[in-house]
Amino acid sequence: MDCLFDRIVKHEIKSEVVYQDDLVTAFRDINPQAPVHILIVPNEHIPSVLDLKPEHAEILSRLMQVAAELAEREGIARGGFRLIFNTGPNAGQTVDHLHMHLLGGRAMGWPPG
Ligand code: 5GP
Repeated sequence: MDCLFDRIVKHEIKSEVVYQDDLVTAFRDINPQAPVHILIVPNEHIPSVLDLKPEHAEILSRLMQVAAELAEREGIARGGFRLIFNTGPNAGQTVDHLHMHLLGGRAMGWPPG
């Protein structure tokens, strides 16, 4: 399977990786929508939220913990940030590998576009 994010996780495609452990990898989005825009992905290939199973609980928990840690490290924890899982066409999911957007560093509107 030729998945872009699988290849980023394995360092086969260059990206600015800001965190990696045994379960997840975080890297800066190539087309940032905010001063801080990081994608946090499972190392395992899970296509979307719809494919999550009970055995993925530890991965999901780690995604959230890493998001909080990176928000602190990037200086956006106090100002506030947004965590987003785009899922399916109406939400604009363009890469079929589960990914959480960490966005911050500016005020954001609600509802999202
Ligand atoms: P989605 O639209 O599926 O929720 O998010 C996919 C994200 O991946 C987009 O924000 C897009 O800018 C980012 N992206 C696409 N290709 C690359 C790439 O090659 N490198 C990095 N770092 N980000 C990418």
